[in-house]
Amino acid sequence: MLLDIQNLTTRFATPEGEVFAVNDVSLQVEAGQCLGVVGESGSGKTQVFMSMMGLLAKNGRAEGTVNFNGRQILGLEAAELNRLRGVEFSMIFQDPMTSLNPYLRISKQMTEVLVEHRGITERDAAAKSIDMLKLVGIPEAEKRFRMYPHEFSGGMRQRAMIAMALICEPKLLIADEPTTALDVTVQAQILELIAGLGRKLNMATVLITHDLGVIAGLSDRVTVMYGGRVVEEASVTDVFHNPQHPYTRGLLESMPRLDTRSDQALHAIPGQPPDLQALPAGCSFAPRCFHAFDRCRQEIPRLRAIGGNRVKACHLEAMV
Ligand code: SF4
Repeated sequence: MLLDIQNLTTRFATPEGEVFAVNDVSLQVEAGQCLGVVGESGSGKTQVFMSMMGLLAKNGRAEGTVNFNGRQILGLEAAELNRLRGVEFSMIFQDPMTSLNPYLRISKQMTEVLVEHRGITERDAAAKSIDMLKLVGIPEAEKRFRMYPHEFSGGMRQRAMIAMALICEPKLLIADEPTTALDVTVQAQILELIAGLGRKLNMATVLITHDLGVIAGLSDRVTVMYGGRVVEEASVTDVFHNPQHPYTRGLLESMPRLDTRSDQALHAIPGQPPDLQALPAGCSFAPRCFHAFDRCRQEIPRLRAIGGNRVKACHLEAMV
């Protein structure tokens, strides 16, 4: 197993009280696998990976175990994590400018990492960087290599960020809503690029998104999160064709389909996501769930195997 997260709990201390952002999350990613992590804003999906990478805000605290490639990494010293980030694993974000420095040419940003982490010459680093820009589909890579990030279009900047993230050939790439700010055609191209590069470089990928549709056809498995917990985990086929958690089903029903007419209203899950400072005693989804019964309001459903290499956290035996 490349990444094995067990019982991860992440809290943020705020003047209004503790925020329970991640609650006892366990998930695994195998080498070369593409995992989709889906949930609404505030479901904890990003904070799981920020915890793993040691990128939590100062008021955050993570507990549990995170084993990456045979090594426990949760709680490592900042200097040690810095040596791993970008080299063993990389993360890319919705806004490329979180990763790119606007004041430095792409050439400087890419070669610096290679010279520092791989100990190769400037000249070799430049050649490797240009190859990587070509690999992510940047035309005239030699010319663009010398440009500043602001000279790139939105889609090209995203590609440059991916090239930066991959320059040291990490074993895992985590992409957090990498295409939300882009138009639909460019979105599809970038997502296919990430998934394709994963296969080509035998690199595991995690695609974090609020939109189930984004990962259809790209990921191998899907983890669905709600209220800081994993509520369902299964193959992408099972999730799309036979969802076993009411929240997963709600997400699917709120996706536009090819046969949706333009005048037809989309189904939306009623209600609001839970308040992470005051989670309900039982299932966090109960106030929005059509299937809720007494037990749901009293007892947190634990993640359990339901056969066919899948798990869910719901008191319902099965969904039909
Ligand atoms: Fe709905 Fe109950 Fe299942 Fe929660 S545990 S999703 S409230 S049926």
